[in-house]
Amino acid sequence: MLDAQGRAISYLRISITDRCNFRCLYCMPEHGLPWLPKAEILSYEEIAEVVRQLVPAGIRRLRITGGEPTIRPQLEILIGLLKTIPGVEDVALSTNGVTLAGKAAGYRAAGLDRVNMSSDSLRPDRIAAIARRNLGFDPIAALAAAERAGLSPVKVNVVLMRGTNDDEIEDYARLTRDHPWHVRFIELMPVGELRDLEWRHVVPSAEVLERCERALRGLVSADGTRPAGNGPAVYYRGAEAAGTIGVITPMTHTYCGDCNRVRLTADGRLRTCLFGTHEVGFRDPLRRGEPLLPLFRQALAEKPPEHHLLDMQNGGLRALSQVGG
Ligand code: SAM
Repeated sequence: MLDAQGRAISYLRISITDRCNFRCLYCMPEHGLPWLPKAEILSYEEIAEVVRQLVPAGIRRLRITGGEPTIRPQLEILIGLLKTIPGVEDVALSTNGVTLAGKAAGYRAAGLDRVNMSSDSLRPDRIAAIARRNLGFDPIAALAAAERAGLSPVKVNVVLMRGTNDDEIEDYARLTRDHPWHVRFIELMPVGELRDLEWRHVVPSAEVLERCERALRGLVSADGTRPAGNGPAVYYRGAEAAGTIGVITPMTHTYCGDCNRVRLTADGRLRTCLFGTHEVGFRDPLRRGEPLLPLFRQALAEKPPEHHLLDMQNGGLRALSQVGG
C-alpha cells in the first residue's frame, strides 16, 4: 500500500515491551520510566492478528523490538506465530544481545531470520558503564552465537558518543575484516535522556568513514551488495573484508523520501513516524473485533512527509524504548 507521498510501506517494527534491562545513558533514566500496565500490552496472539490483517495491505517484513524484547517471556512463541503468517517474508529481532549466546539457536529454530544487536562497545566493562547495568556478557560471543545459529545477516548497531566510545571506531572496523558481520554506526539523536544533546557529542559519519578507511587501508561502496534489510544505512566494505560498515545519519542527513516503515507500540498504537506524534490506536478496535485495514489506510494517508527529529528536544518522546526504536 502506498502512503500519501507515494511511498510503499512494507515494513512493520513491532515493539513488544517498553521495559528494558539496560539503562543506556542516552535512552532511559537510571530509575526507569512508568511502565505500561500488563493489561494494556498486546498479547502475542493480538500482535499476530494485527499482522494478519496488515499483510493484505502489503506488510511483508517484520522486526521485533522494544524496550528489550528478549525480556518478555517465551519470545519464541511470538517468532513462530509471526513466521507462519502467509505473506510474511522476513522476521528480524533487535536486541541488546544479553540473551543471544544462550538463545540464538532457539530463536532461529522458532523461525527468526536475522538479528540486529545493539552494542555501543566491544568491552564488557564499558558496556556496563554505558548501559548502567552490569549483566556480564561478552558482545563478541553473542555475535558469534548468532552467526553459528544461522541468523543472517548479523548486524551490529553502535551509537557513537564523542568522548565515550568514539575511540573504538577502528576496533569495530577491524571486526568487519575478520567476521561477516555488518557494523552500522548510528548518529546519537536528541531524544530521551539526551534532550540536551549538544552537537559536539555527535560523531558525524564523514569522520567515521575516514577513520574506518584508514583502519582498513581503503573502503569501497558496498551498496551494490548491501546486506539484506530495510533500513536507511549506506554501506562500505574494507579491502577483502568479510563484513561491511554502514552509517545511519539521522542528524546530518534525512532519508524520509525512502521511508518504508511504520511502527506498532507495545500498547497497540500504530506510529507512522519515529520522530513524529502521529499515531492511530489499534488496540481497542482490535479487542472489539473491528477490522484494522480502514484504520491502516487512514494512518498511511496521514503519514508525515518527513520527520521532525530536532523538535523532539522540546517535548514528546521520553525515550526510543517507548515506541520501539
Ligand atoms: N533493546 C533493543 C536494542 O538494544 O536494540 C531494541 C530497542 S533500542 C531503543 C533500539 C536502538 O535505539 C538501539 O540501537 C539504541 O542504541 C537506539 N537508541 C536509543 N536511544 C537513542 C538515541 N538517543 N540516539 C541514538 N540511538 C538511540
